[in-house]
Amino acid sequence: MADGKIVETKIPPIRNGTVIDHISNGQSLNVLKILGVNENNIDSVISIGMHVPSSKCNSWKDVIKVEDRELDPQTVDKIALIAPEATISIIRDYYIAEKFNVRLEDHIVGLAKCSNPNCITNKGEPIDPEFIVEERCPPKLRCVYCDRILTNISDNLL
Ligand SMILES: [Zn+2]
Repeated sequence: MADGKIVETKIPPIRNGTVIDHISNGQSLNVLKILGVNENNIDSVISIGMHVPSSKCNSWKDVIKVEDRELDPQTVDKIALIAPEATISIIRDYYIAEKFNVRLEDHIVGLAKCSNPNCITNKGEPIDPEFIVEERCPPKLRCVYCDRILTNISDNLL
């Protein structure tokens, strides 16, 4: 189902792939990390727009376009942890086939690890790290086991 051709001109349109838009200003490098760009296992073209004017409320945003790749749900959930306002558009043959907002749940399980080395979740027990989302913009997560606030979320993603 196509709902309109891409009109954005800052970054060239892509034929197939994913556009991650409305990334909080400055977070695109952390999103790249989630996409696995550091691991040299990506063989598609990625275009990044940093500090692009946002039509939403007079501000700035980052945009990433990934060619020939659609994101799995876990990747989308991780992006929500660092860019809770982001929108994901799946592009097929230059048209937006699907568009949705990332969703930051109130309760996060298994996407990030606790930054407290003494936390039970870091002791080799079969316990998934679990966080309560206390604030959303920017996200602030509290470990349900040791109460520590996870400040540097992007460094602790699993
Ligand atoms: Zn903890």
